[in-house]
Amino acid sequence: MLSVDEARQLVLDRAQPLPAVATPLADAQGRVLAEPIVSDIDSPPHDKSIVDGYAVISADIIASGIELTVLEEVTAGAVPRRAVEPGTATRIMTGAPLPTGADAVVMVEQTHAAADHVRILQSAVKAGQNIVRRATSLAQGQSVLQLGKLLRAIEIGLLAEVGRSTVATIPRPRVAVLTTGNELVAPPVLPGPGQIRNSNGPMLSASVRSSDAEAADLGIARDDPTDLRRAISAGLTHDVLVVSGGVSAGILDLVPTILQELGVEQVFHKVNLKPGKPIWFGVRRGDSDRSTLVFGLPGNPVSALVCFELFVRPAIQKLRGLPPSGLRRISGNLARDHQQRGERPTYWPAALSENAVTPLPWKGSGDLRTLADANCLAFFAAGDRLFRTGEQIEALLFADSAY
Ligand code: AMP
Ligand code: MG
Repeated sequence: MLSVDEARQLVLDRAQPLPAVATPLADAQGRVLAEPIVSDIDSPPHDKSIVDGYAVISADIIASGIELTVLEEVTAGAVPRRAVEPGTATRIMTGAPLPTGADAVVMVEQTHAAADHVRILQSAVKAGQNIVRRATSLAQGQSVLQLGKLLRAIEIGLLAEVGRSTVATIPRPRVAVLTTGNELVAPPVLPGPGQIRNSNGPMLSASVRSSDAEAADLGIARDDPTDLRRAISAGLTHDVLVVSGGVSAGILDLVPTILQELGVEQVFHKVNLKPGKPIWFGVRRGDSDRSTLVFGLPGNPVSALVCFELFVRPAIQKLRGLPPSGLRRISGNLARDHQQRGERPTYWPAALSENAVTPLPWKGSGDLRTLADANCLAFFAAGDRLFRTGEQIEALLFADSAY
């Protein structure tokens, strides 16, 4: 059976960044930049004052109390009309262009104004004081953002500064979520005999959104070839199709057969892990370059979630143009003894706090309730072994946990 790392590599080999599209700046946040960005301007565009005060010639200030004639006032957005000459000064506001001749600004708090004169209370002024020179932060033609950069609010601001109202970005992957099972009812329904509520649909759609992809919830398909064919065909028009349930060895586990019938080529079925062993993965090559990555996740909710984190999230990251790092890997010390059993490496719901990892009293792959107390999945290698309190172990931190 494949290991998690081998299986993930097979997935990532088949996940390529989506083609770039022109994106209005207002929609670009959270996407990856698909073109290098160069500044079209100098910033600041002129030598500017960074305080409210008086633009002076520093050599004029040879002692405290020097009086200068005030030539004019320049506010931000205005331009000086007169050059500062020996014995003169210009009243200047933060952000306004420095007048020709001046080489420093004295803060208004260190002056005393009287009629058309100003007295400078400082005894000396350094050239360059309170001035930011033209092009200090950006020069025209300078590269400001590299291809591949994830656009946050900061980068959106910078793009606006260099005049970009549209940029090339990699779009959010469109991910369809389909749940399967004759036993499933929608959440508002009180389950009848033999029925359970569909918790995976809402959970997996939320997981997709937390991966910054677009989720399309295709609802519930019955364990029936016709219904599965209809629902899976709809799912195959997306970049990714995540199917929940129907991939194990039961007589109604029809998903792999129907997927292959619809042209999805199987890459693997079953991975050596717990929970999540029955996972299925394949690719459907569409017309032109388009293809759909298809994940068949086991129906048990914890298995589905673990498989999503180990395989689907990294694939979505790669489609988005990001490094496919998946959940953040941390190490911590076990807060209590933990008995590991069995031949499969195990991802165990756990609570991480200040470097201490507490494995939770988890009741198995149907127990979503205990997972709600977890902020990470503790990793225990295969084999029967007692892991001791204090031992260092690895864990995967949930992306949306508050830790
Ligand atoms: P399956 O993978 O279809 O064999 O399902 C494995 C287990 O997960 C069964 O106990 C199912 O009832 C349960 N299950 C399947 N789909 C869902 C779902 N959407 N929400 C909650 N439990 C599910
Ligand atoms: Mg089923």
